[in-house]
Amino acid sequence: MSVGIFGGAFDPPHAGHVELARRGIEHFALDRLLVRVVEHPGHKPVATAPETRLRLARLAFASLPGAEIELDPFARTVDSLEALALIDPVFLVGADEFAALPTWKEPDRVLDLARLGVATRPGIDDRRVEAVLTTLARPERVSFFPIEPLPVSSSEIRARAAAGEPIDAFVPPEVAREISRLGLYRPVETGGAGGMLGRDG
Ligand code: ATP
Repeated sequence: MSVGIFGGAFDPPHAGHVELARRGIEHFALDRLLVRVVEHPGHKPVATAPETRLRLARLAFASLPGAEIELDPFARTVDSLEALALIDPVFLVGADEFAALPTWKEPDRVLDLARLGVATRPGIDDRRVEAVLTTLARPERVSFFPIEPLPVSSSEIRARAAAGEPIDAFVPPEVAREISRLGLYRPVETGGAGGMLGRDG
């Protein structure tokens, strides 16, 4: 039974995330993929409640074989892996996230607890990836797998939605519908009829 883990803020989940998860399942022949929606990422601000991001992630990843989508109460990967206590899991990350590995809490302990499966992503400098490998006690625990390059990010999608631009090209259709239904990532409205409420004169 091979298990993978894919964690993120997923604010919102997008086509790049789904591509990474799908290729990761194939490449590592995963029976299960735990998609972990980090409740309070800590290192980056999130615009959306954990339960809402969980809901979006369920819509985004539900069709992938073996995917189990759940909230992750731990902000740090090492703490999450300690608590999960899985046998020889593969932790999937994008190459940009891998480049930031030295800033994670206890990177070498992470690699004791899980192998790392790193998806290549456009705009990532190979030398940065090489430089990170040289900092690790067990670089042989890291392997790379190719994905179709989809240069999209959650922050870009939030910005587009806030500007009233379409996001349909970047997220699965079910996710686009739910974002629209819930009115997520819209700018805070000022003035208008709402501004009249509560006036006492
Ligand atoms: P933000 O724009 O807010 O930084 P993000 O798009 O990077 O968000 P996260 O939820 O932080 O999304 O990312 C979770 C994981 O998905 C990370 O391992 C990251 O490297 C990976 N990832 C993000 N975008 C892509 C993409 N376009 N293709 C492949 N992997 C991606």
